[in-house]
Amino acid sequence: MIKYGELTTKKANRKVFINLLYENILKMLGKTPVSIYKDRVRMYIECEDYVLEQVVAKLKKVFGIHSIVICHKVNTNIEEMEKKALELVKKQEYHTFKVETKRADKTFSISSMEMNQKMGGALLKNTNLKVDVHNPDVILHIEIRREGTFLYTNEEKGLGGYPVGIQGRGMLMLSGGIDSPVAGYLALKRGVSMDCVYFESPPHTSIEAKNKVIALTKIMNEYSLSIRLFVVPFTEIQEAIYKNVPANYMITIMRRMMYRISEGLAKKNKAKVIFNGESIGQVASQTLTSMQVINEVTAMPVIRPVACMDKLEIIDIASKIGTYETSILPYEDCCTIFLPKHPVIHPELEKAKQYEKSFDYESLITKAIENVEVVKDFQETSFQKYL
Ligand code: ATP
Ligand code: MG
Repeated sequence: MIKYGELTTKKANRKVFINLLYENILKMLGKTPVSIYKDRVRMYIECEDYVLEQVVAKLKKVFGIHSIVICHKVNTNIEEMEKKALELVKKQEYHTFKVETKRADKTFSISSMEMNQKMGGALLKNTNLKVDVHNPDVILHIEIRREGTFLYTNEEKGLGGYPVGIQGRGMLMLSGGIDSPVAGYLALKRGVSMDCVYFESPPHTSIEAKNKVIALTKIMNEYSLSIRLFVVPFTEIQEAIYKNVPANYMITIMRRMMYRISEGLAKKNKAKVIFNGESIGQVASQTLTSMQVINEVTAMPVIRPVACMDKLEIIDIASKIGTYETSILPYEDCCTIFLPKHPVIHPELEKAKQYEKSFDYESLITKAIENVEVVKDFQETSFQKYL
């Protein structure tokens, strides 16, 4: 049984939310044999025991699910209920319990109160457990419905958030670092479906660096299943910058180019907003002055989900979502290769514009966008050809 996450309060949206969540769950479960039913408050996924673990693991990667409750369905007769109840409370080392019965099927002749007593009695007789109605170690829930009786003890937390896709599409600037995959995850959590853009500069950046970004996209895609990765050939632009721009402004100009290309790709692919992993003050290009000068090239909103987080908080999320281990692999990205010793901390917009005039960046940008490579199949088999 699935309880929905944070639902918008408007009635019409609720329906859209639930339908999209349903579609996303179907997509996530793929060929796993299950039956799914939904209503306004819950979704029920029925499966055999042998796939249960797999189903729960997949559901734990679906945004829009508040909690997952593993219910056991038995026929509505006292013997079967007692047997299952015993099995459930014996699973762990509980000391105290409480029974909570809900009788949705009023044709069942025993009242909820009587059922609580009856089942409580059976547990007291057959185990060493004691009753504690205020603060029990375990609550045995019994829901008597027309289609059968559902028993459950615990509720597992889902990811929360909104179903991916409810907000339309964003374009994430994805490097091989720790921050940008976390930024992408947080955007997905708010219901944004995502495409990613990665700037590569071979031969200054290696195939390993690219594979690392593909691997990170693959991990993020487990939460989305619809991510495409655009790999932008960035070498010519980077070399032009190296040749024409004073060292301390190289990063500023490079990032202005990245923003321009990200915007171009976003527009081409119907993404509304750019996302990236910038965090205030982390490096010279992420001071407020730098952000202002870099952001000036686009009118498209740029959202920085980790802007106000400490590095340790970001690392914490990266570990939880499974990107950290890949992010810390040692391969360089294109920023580090041309890294000047003293990048400007407070760049001036007029200077940046002036330096950009020294080469024909517009045609280089058009060319880079035209020659983008699209990676969109992250299944194991097709992944091999990249790794
Ligand atoms: P990260 O850990 O995400 O790499 P960072 O702390 O290394 O971030 P920068 O290298 O300054 O910071 O990059 C800031 C942001 O710019 C990144 O989070 C990412 O969104 C984007 N970015 C940087 N390099 C690239 C790249 N090669 N391709 C795509 N996006 C990039
Ligand atoms: Mg980086």
